[in-house]
Amino acid sequence: MAYVYDDQNIFAKILRAEIPNTTVYETEHTLAFRDIAPKAPDHVLVIPKGPYVTFDHFCQAASDEELTDFFRASGEVCKMIGAAADDTALGFRAITNAGQHGVQEVPHFHLHILSGRPLGRMVEATD
Ligand code: AMP
Repeated sequence: MAYVYDDQNIFAKILRAEIPNTTVYETEHTLAFRDIAPKAPDHVLVIPKGPYVTFDHFCQAASDEELTDFFRASGEVCKMIGAAADDTALGFRAITNAGQHGVQEVPHFHLHILSGRPLGRMVEATD
């Protein structure tokens, strides 16, 4: 199975600093920034810096170092925005959309972290 990465996607442009972003957290392999159209008071996107199209692509093709870095960074973001679901905070939702059925708009793998309000049920019925 082939994953074809389009290096003209908007997050690739953010990583090349061709367009601005509001960075929340950055490491060697990972960037976290605020979503331009937030769906909750806090809505952060966490992306690997490598050219991965979807979550499954990232899980299959990324190095152990990239995988660890990405998930540790995601944990830091939860702490930084006060969303960590420990006994002091109200929790969050982490979502990743992939492909056509997942309604993925930007073909660079990203994890949405949403918090700051009750988020409702996970998936609405479409039929
Ligand atoms: P998805 O549908 O999962 O691919 O989500 C793409 C997300 O990227 C949407 O929530 C958009 O609001 C967000 N987005 C698109 N362009 C930008 C941008 N330039 N900076 C930050 N977020 C963006």
